Amino acid sequence: MRTTQLNGNLIQLTRLRLVNAYLVREEDGFTLVDTTIPGAAADLITAAASAGGTIRRIALTHGHGDHVGSLDALRERLGSSVPVLMPELDARIHAGEQVVDGKPPGGWPKLKTTPDVRLAPGDRVGSLEVIATPGHTPGHVSFLDTRDRALIAGDVFVSVGEVTVSDHFYWRFPLAWMATWDKTKDLESAKTLRALEPDLLVVGHGPAVRQPATAMDRAIARGGG
Ligand SMILES: [Zn+2]
Repeated sequence: MRTTQLNGNLIQLTRLRLVNAYLVREEDGFTLVDTTIPGAAADLITAAASAGGTIRRIALTHGHGDHVGSLDALRERLGSSVPVLMPELDARIHAGEQVVDGKPPGGWPKLKTTPDVRLAPGDRVGSLEVIATPGHTPGHVSFLDTRDRALIAGDVFVSVGEVTVSDHFYWRFPLAWMATWDKTKDLESAKTLRALEPDLLVVGHGPAVRQPATAMDRAIARGGG
């Protein structure tokens, strides 16, 4: 697992070059945002220890398998005193509820872990503000660090090669597009995130983008594919 310190508060953890999780530094330790794919739990815990803290809570951008993949293994190792926070609608999908017409696309692996908190827009997770960004999945959320305007945008944007919105087919990384539930809502969410004027954009797939306004504008203009 590759570790990249992006600023004083944010560490990017990358598995197999393509799948990211994040450690957000708080006074009590770290918030882990997303868990990547199965088999990463030990590496995620080690990465937090190497960075000088422990994982205090796990917050998820959405319920897809490449974001919740190591959740059960983390729960097993960390115990239930480390709460799991998942967006409301995606938590309900994992609970087997029918929240939208048909089955949303993408991988929804069976989880043993029931989230302790169902996230709603405007909630706070330490220094992070929860932003509703539905479209890639029905419940997808993003997290804005109110200290430094770093934005963790999950799979609304992809930055493999160049920055794209996941509503748009992009040959370098078609998976995000294939797994996107409502492409119109997804593009609207991309515009919502752009309007937040982030200083740093980080996503589920691809490297961090500093001063991302121009790249986000270009991605949004290209959207709708
Ligand atoms: Zn996804």
